[in-house]
Amino acid sequence: MCALLVGLPAVNVLAVDDDDPAGPLRVHVETTATTVACRSCGTKARVKDRRQVALVDLPAFGRRAVLVWHKRRWCCPDVDCETKSFTEVDARIAASRAKVTDRAGRHVTARVGRDGRTVTDVAVELGCDWHTVMDAVRSYGTALIEDPARIGPVAAVGLDETLFARTGSKKTRCWCTSIVALDRPAQLLDVVEGRTAKAPTTWLEARPESWRAAIRWGALDLSGPYRKTFNDTLPDATQVADPFHVCKLANSRLDECRRRVQNYTLGHRGRKDDPLYRSRRLLTKGHERLDEKGTEKLLGFLEAGDPHGEVRMTWHAKETLRGFYTQPAENAEAFLDELVADMGDESMPIEVRSLARTLTTWRAQILAWHDAKVSNGPTESINNLIKRIKRIGFGFRRFANYRIRVLLYAGKPNWDLLDTVTPR
Ligand SMILES: [Zn+2]
Repeated sequence: MCALLVGLPAVNVLAVDDDDPAGPLRVHVETTATTVACRSCGTKARVKDRRQVALVDLPAFGRRAVLVWHKRRWCCPDVDCETKSFTEVDARIAASRAKVTDRAGRHVTARVGRDGRTVTDVAVELGCDWHTVMDAVRSYGTALIEDPARIGPVAAVGLDETLFARTGSKKTRCWCTSIVALDRPAQLLDVVEGRTAKAPTTWLEARPESWRAAIRWGALDLSGPYRKTFNDTLPDATQVADPFHVCKLANSRLDECRRRVQNYTLGHRGRKDDPLYRSRRLLTKGHERLDEKGTEKLLGFLEAGDPHGEVRMTWHAKETLRGFYTQPAENAEAFLDELVADMGDESMPIEVRSLARTLTTWRAQILAWHDAKVSNGPTESINNLIKRIKRIGFGFRRFANYRIRVLLYAGKPNWDLLDTVTPR
C-alpha cells in the first residue's frame, strides 16, 4: 500500500522517516531489481554495497518530501572482467546525477517555464535550493526547446535588441538579440548574445535552406547590424523598418531638441517647474491620445518655453511622421518623400534635419511597411514577456539560464512532450 502511495514503478518502500516535524518527509526506497547482469560480460552481478541518495521529490500530503534511494552498487564476480563495480540507475526514478526525482524535475520545469513562476518560489515549494531547481529546469527544458519541431515554417522574421542584464560594479549592460517569428501568434524563435550582426547571422545560417527561402519579410529596428544580417542571410526577403522604432527615433530627436532649447533659454537642465520640462510627456504622447485639456497645456508650455518654435516644429515633424502609417498605400511614397524634403529644409531645427537623413537612409525599409504590414509589434509583446521573466528573475547573470527561461515561456515549446522528453 505504501508503494502504491509513493507511486513509482518497481520500487519497494523500506521506511518512512518522519522524525523531524519541521523537515521533509523522508521516504526510503529500493528498486525491485534484485537480479542484474554485468554490463560488460553478462555474468550475474552481486551486490557490493549500498549508497543512499537523497532526491528532492514532489510534496506529499501537504508535506515536503525527500526520496532516499538506497542504491545498490553491483560488482562483477568474474575476476577477469574489466567492469569492477557499477551503481544502479533507473531513469524512472531520477536522471543520473540529478538531485531531484524525475517527476519533480518535470514538475518544476512546467512551473518555471510554462507558468512563469520564479525559481525561488518553486525552490521554497519543494524545500530545496535555487540551483537544484534551475539545474532541473535546464536539464528538462533544454530537451523541450531543442525539439526540432518547435520551429515551423515562418513568413516574417523580426530581429530586436533586448537588454538582458546589468553586470558588475559598473552595471555594464548586456545585450542580446531576440529572433522572432512575426506570423501571428508570434513566437520567440531564439535569443542570441550581443546585438551585432554576427550572432543572428550565425543562427540564421544554421537553418535549412528551404526554411530561409520561405521567409518573405525581415523586420528590423533602424540598426545597421541587423540590416547586414538580413542582407547576408535572407537576400530575397524584403526588409521592413519597424514602425515602433521609427516613431521611437522621432521621439528621441524631439527629446534632444527640447533639452537643447531648455539649455539655451534657461541655461540649465530641466527642473520641475520649467515649462519645457513639464511638457516632456505630453510631447512624446501621440496627439490623438491628448484630450483638449492636454493639448491646451502642451501649447501653453511651448508658448512659454520655446521662443523660436523649434520644439514645436520637431513635435510637428514627429506627428506627421506618425501619420505616414495611416496613409493609404498608394499615397505612402509621395507622403514620405514630401515629408523628408520638408524636414531637410535649412530652416528646420538640427534634430529634424538629422531625422530626415535617417529616414532617407532607411527609405526602402520604411516604405516596405505598407506592403508587408508586418511590424515588430509582436516582438514588443514578446519583449514584454521577456521583461516579466527578467523582473521575476531579479536579473540574469548567466545568459544560458536566461535563454532557457525565455524560450520556455515565449518560445512555444510543445508542452505535451514534457512527460516523455529525455533530460539533457
Ligand atoms: Zn563482468
